[in-house]
Amino acid sequence: MNAKGNRMAMSFSDNGKLFNTKLGEIDILLHRPLEGRIKQLIIKRQGKRWYSIFCVERQVIPANINANNAVGMDVGLNKYAVLSNGTEYDNPRFLRKKEKQLKKAQRKISEKKKGSANYIGQVQRVRQLHVKVANQRKDFLHKLSYNLAIDYSVIAVENLNIRNMIRNRKISKSISDAGWGMFRNMLAYKCEKNGGVLIKVEQKFTSQDCSYCNNRVKKSLSIRTHICQKCGVVLDRDYNAAKNILQKAIEELLVTVGQGCVRTV
Ligand SMILES: [Zn+2]
Repeated sequence: MNAKGNRMAMSFSDNGKLFNTKLGEIDILLHRPLEGRIKQLIIKRQGKRWYSIFCVERQVIPANINANNAVGMDVGLNKYAVLSNGTEYDNPRFLRKKEKQLKKAQRKISEKKKGSANYIGQVQRVRQLHVKVANQRKDFLHKLSYNLAIDYSVIAVENLNIRNMIRNRKISKSISDAGWGMFRNMLAYKCEKNGGVLIKVEQKFTSQDCSYCNNRVKKSLSIRTHICQKCGVVLDRDYNAAKNILQKAIEELLVTVGQGCVRTV
């Protein structure tokens, strides 16, 4: 670690100490309680003392928000999005659709003499294909986020850690193709522009818990149906998750806008 400060992943242990995978547990004197989700920690040395600087993400829900049509949304790879009112949006998978064409174009590069006009032209063609995929994706996300922001005043989504998910090599390409990060950014500013709000809720058991009776039904990713032994409800996995996401957002909203002011659609 240097005096300039290092960026690292951390958490708090149950005993209140700061925990870092490299340094272990560290005693810490907190000058004020931390509010919000910790995004980053910078440890800095000034003279003999060490300081921790926390960067947090706080969600501010405006008190005058129109919470009359709140909806929960689960994003995924099977369906692009499933809403808590049952509406589903297909995943367009733009990259997947162009994959064959891309591979072929890529292969052709190796057949050309490096540096030749043909070679440069082929590189250009591959680049154009990627641009086309990116534009298609952007266009789809703009339209979808625009329509959602118009239709709903409150949209609740899960706080996904996309960077961590992309480390899963098996599905990283599909996740990149889905453009969830871009989608959430678009949704956030479009909701705000329309007087609404995008609420991010903690990603905790949203696909496991039963949206009817709260019973926890553990299931792997491949199980697409939520079947609750306790209350007998059978729901599509993503639909059940969307309902739970909405419920979590309502709990947060009630604190801000008060009882009886939230109506779901
Ligand atoms: Zn149940």
